[in-house]
Amino acid sequence: MSRIDEIFGTNVFNDRIMRERLPKETYRALHHTIDNGRPLDPQLASVVANAMKDWALEKGVTHYTHWFQPLNSVTAEKHDAFISPLPDGSIIQEFSGKELVRGEADASSLPNGGLRSTFEARGYTAWDPTSYAFIKDHTLCIPTAYCSWGGEALDKKTPLLRSMEALSRQAVRILHLFGRMDAVRVMPTVGPEQEYFLIDKDLFDRRSDLIFAGRTLFGAKPPKGQELGDHFFGTIKPRVQAFMQELNEELWKLGILAKTEHNEAAPSQHEMAPIYSIVNIACDHNQLTMEIMKKVARRHNLVCLLAEKPFDGVNGSGKHNNWSMFTNTGYNLLEPGDSPHESAQFLLFLTAVIKAVDDYQDLLRASVASAGNDHRLGGFEAPPAIISIFLGDELTDILRALEAGSAYNGREKTDMTIGVHMLPKFPRDTTDRNRTSPFAFTGNKFEFRSVGASDSIADANVVLNTIVAESLRCFADELEQAADFRSTLHDLIVRTIKEHKRIIFNGNNYTDEWIKEAERRGLLRLDSTVDALPCYVAEKNIALFERHQVLSRSELRSRMDIGLDAYAKTLKIEAETMLMMTRRQILPAVLRYIGTVAESSSLARAAGQTLVCSDSLLAQLCTNSDALGSCADRLETVLREMPRTGDTLYTAQVMHDQVLPVMSKLRSYADQLECITDRSVWPFPTYDQLLFSV
Ligand code: ADP
Ligand code: MG
Repeated sequence: MSRIDEIFGTNVFNDRIMRERLPKETYRALHHTIDNGRPLDPQLASVVANAMKDWALEKGVTHYTHWFQPLNSVTAEKHDAFISPLPDGSIIQEFSGKELVRGEADASSLPNGGLRSTFEARGYTAWDPTSYAFIKDHTLCIPTAYCSWGGEALDKKTPLLRSMEALSRQAVRILHLFGRMDAVRVMPTVGPEQEYFLIDKDLFDRRSDLIFAGRTLFGAKPPKGQELGDHFFGTIKPRVQAFMQELNEELWKLGILAKTEHNEAAPSQHEMAPIYSIVNIACDHNQLTMEIMKKVARRHNLVCLLAEKPFDGVNGSGKHNNWSMFTNTGYNLLEPGDSPHESAQFLLFLTAVIKAVDDYQDLLRASVASAGNDHRLGGFEAPPAIISIFLGDELTDILRALEAGSAYNGREKTDMTIGVHMLPKFPRDTTDRNRTSPFAFTGNKFEFRSVGASDSIADANVVLNTIVAESLRCFADELEQAADFRSTLHDLIVRTIKEHKRIIFNGNNYTDEWIKEAERRGLLRLDSTVDALPCYVAEKNIALFERHQVLSRSELRSRMDIGLDAYAKTLKIEAETMLMMTRRQILPAVLRYIGTVAESSSLARAAGQTLVCSDSLLAQLCTNSDALGSCADRLETVLREMPRTGDTLYTAQVMHDQVLPVMSKLRSYADQLECITDRSVWPFPTYDQLLFSV
C-alpha cells in the first residue's frame, strides 16, 4: 500500500466505514436519507451515533462536537466528552442519536446581526448528513447547520444547503424539458484554489500588525518583488516542501482531495487546489484546509497568512471558485457535449449563467466584500470591483453568430439554429486563459476569481446557486408553456444573448480603458465593501432570495449588518495597531536615530567641516517625523470622534471615508522614514526580510 492509500480518509466516518460498521438495513436507510435530502429517523440516528462513537473511541477520541460555520467566516466548536455518570460512581461512554442529530449552542457571543436577542440567545445545530463526520484533535466533529429556535439561519451552511436545493429544483425542470427524465437532482460542484503566504514565525512575532491584523500596515517595497516572475511555478524550497507534504497528509487523513500545489506569483506565496466536490462538502473542506494550513505552518516555525493583501506592492491572495453543475447521473451541465441536442442544452445553461451574472452583478460583488478583499480587488493583480464574464473568442463568436442569425466559421446561415446542429469543440487550452477576468468560462466550468483568501466560499456560492436558479426558473416558466419547444428555445437563447451580452468582456480587465468601457456599458462598479454590502437588502435581491427560499429579509439584513460591523471593527483594529506601532516603535526609533545623525553633524561642525549628507538627512528625518507625528494625532482624533451609533452602515462609511485615508497617509510617512533610517535601529522586520527569508 502506498502512503496515500494508507492514510487517505482514516479520520473520516465515510461511506466505506458506514458500510462496514452499520447493519445493512441502517446503512441503506441512511443512504436513502442522504441521497434524497430527507430528515433522519430518530431510531436510525441512534444506531448511527453508536457506530460513530465506537469507531471514534477506537481511535482515541474522547469528545464530540457539533462543528458549524457562524457568520464570521471561521468555524466554531464546543467539545463535550462522551461520558455519562453511573450510580456506582463510574461512567459509561455514550453518544445518543439525539446528540448526533441536534445540539444546543448558547453562542450568544457569535455574530447574529440582530436575529436573536440575548434573552433567547440559544440556537441549535443540526447534522448535515451529506457531509461526513471526522476526527480532529481527539474530537469527533459532526458537520452541522446552525439556526435560531425561530428557524432563522445563523450560519453560512444553512443558506448554502437551501441554495443547492433551489438550483436543483429549477435545473431539473429544464432537464425534464430536454427529456432527461432520469435527472432527479442537480448538484453544484466547486474546486476552490487556495492561495496563501508562508513567513518565518520569529519575524512574524516581532510585528504587531501581522499579529493583530494579519497583514502589514507598514512596510516599504523592497528593491525586488515579483517583477521577474521567478517565483510562480518555481522550484519549491525544502522548508516549504516539508510544510506542503505534512499539510497534504493531514488533509488526506480528513478525506480532503488535496491535489495541486505550487508557488504563486509573489515571493513567499503559494497555492493548494483540491479536486472539486459538491459545494457544501467543498466549503467544509476549505474551512478545514485553512485551519490546518495555519496549524501545520506552526509546526515548521512558519506562519500561514491568509489575509487578502498581507503585503503592499506584491500580489495578494484569493480563492478561485471553480463552479459547475452535475446531474445525479454524473453529467456536467456546463460541458459542451457531443450532439446537437446536448449543444442546445449546454447553450441554455450557459446563457442562464450569463443572464444571472448580468442581472445580479451587485450580489456577486457583495458576496466577496470584506475589508481585506477591498485592498486586493482592482489592485492590478486581481479582478477589478467590476463583474464581467470571460468566454473566450470561440464561444463569443458562436454567441455572436447565433444572435445575428449568421454563419459561424463560414457555415451555412441556417447552421446556427439551436437544437439542429452541433457546436464545434472548444479548445480547453490553458494558454487561452484570461487571468484578469473575475468570472471566466474555462471549458466546462466557471471560475469566480474574486473570492478573498480568508473568506468562506459559502457566500459566493449561495449567490451563484441562487442567481442561476432564478435564470433557470425564468427559462423553465417560458419553455414549459411553449407550443413549439425548439423554436421557443432558439428565440429564448438569442434574446438572452442580446439582452445580456454587455457582461461579456474578453479583454484585459486591469486596464483603465476597461473601467471606462464598463461604465459606458452600464456595468456596476462597487469599489468598497461599504458600497457593496447594502446590495443584499435591495428589494429586487430580497425578492430573489425569498422566492427561492434561500434567505429571508431579516436574514439578509443581518448578513449585511454583520459584514458592515466586521468591516468597521477591522479598520478600527488596524488603525489602533498603526497608532501603537507609530508611537511606541517607529517614532522612538527614528528620534533616537535623529540624535545619532545630529551628533554626526555637530561633531563635523566642531571639526570645522560641513557634513552635507548628514545635514540633509537630518532635515528629511525631521520633516517626515513631524508629519508622521501629526498624522498619528489626526488619526487618534478621528477615531475618538467616531459617532457612536447603532447604524452599521453609517459607521462603516465613516471608517471608509475618514479613517482609511488617514491610515494610508500615516503609512506613507512611515514608509519614507523606513527608507532613510539605519536598518539596525528599525524596530521591526522589513519586507525584504519577511518576503525572502523562508
Ligand atoms: P488553474 O490554476 O489552472 O485554474 P487548478 O488545477 O489549480 O487550475 O484548479 C482548478 C480547479 O478546478 C481544481 O480544484 C479542479 O478540481 C476544479 N475543477 C475542475 N473541473 C471542475 C468542475 N467541473 N466543477 C468544479 N470544479 C472543477
Ligand atoms: Mg491553480
